[in-house]
Amino acid sequence: MEEEIGFLGLGIMGKAMSMNLLRHGFKLTVWNRSLSKCDELREHGASVAETPAAVVKKCKYTIAMLSDPSAALSVVFDKDGVLEQICSGKGYIDMSTVDADTSTKISEAITSKGGHFLEAPVSGSKKPAEDGQLIILAAGVKSLYEEALPAFDVMGKKSFFLGEVGNGARMKLVVNMIMGSMMNAFSEGLVLADKSGLDPQTLLNVLELGAVGNPMFKLKGPTMIQKNYSPVFPLKHQQKDMRLALALGDENAVSMPVAAAANEAFKKARGMGLGDLDFSAVCEAVGFRPS
Ligand code: NAP
Repeated sequence: MEEEIGFLGLGIMGKAMSMNLLRHGFKLTVWNRSLSKCDELREHGASVAETPAAVVKKCKYTIAMLSDPSAALSVVFDKDGVLEQICSGKGYIDMSTVDADTSTKISEAITSKGGHFLEAPVSGSKKPAEDGQLIILAAGVKSLYEEALPAFDVMGKKSFFLGEVGNGARMKLVVNMIMGSMMNAFSEGLVLADKSGLDPQTLLNVLELGAVGNPMFKLKGPTMIQKNYSPVFPLKHQQKDMRLALALGDENAVSMPVAAAANEAFKKARGMGLGDLDFSAVCEAVGFRPS
């Protein structure tokens, strides 16, 4: 593959996605706010640039995978940001989970400079990112989507093109709102089993055999019982997604009492200092403390 792709943001997801692209022969120029996180990528053949603008200058299109709306905006609008170099013939693809308003702001700014914009948040976590098994929820400029398909095919098992900018962001928030609510119901189930004298592991065995079982419970249940919350999907990001999904509900007059309660539990967990741990640590806030 000849074309050089830019990659901004080498956190849990960005690192896994960019390593996967390198493994599949893509040429990458990467940047991360804490530059030391670029070292490992450099060892695997990536070029490193010192600013987002320098990445965009070099590459036909640039992918970003950043924590939240404020990070996504900062990387585009701040000094040495994407906007300084984006121009006609270049594309910018933001794969971060943000709200539709943030994405639209970025889209308008990129478009005003003649560039093409695509939002492409992903469903799936660290392991699917490493294995190229993400689900990509793209929206924006169709020709950029088509141009990026070879990279999407490596990063994901399926890509959806959802039309206008905002639809990808909204779809992602709906999915993560459901996930956050499910994690809370699961946590309450673990507490209830434990406190009422049942073995939580037996609960997992029972759940797995029935219709209520799902890959997330199967994956997270055993580590939650072991109190292993090493971050795969940081809790602070799950709470950000609940907050943004609730705002979307507000905008559309959709009552979401279950999601609102789940958001409170994630907020409580953040207040307990669990924000940087995996989102499954919310079970501690719900009261699951197996001995
Ligand atoms: P992460 O490990 O916390 O990484 C966040 C990245 O954003 C880091 O590269 C960080 O740079 C950068 N960043 C934060 N604030 C910044 C700022 N103001 N300016 C520039 N860069 C900034 O998060 P992650 O788990 O990779 O998640 C990234 C995005 O994907 C989030 O939107 C998340 O909701 C979404 N997502 C995550 C998962 C998952 O399972 N982890 C799954 C699907 C979607 P530093 O290294 O300098 O801090």
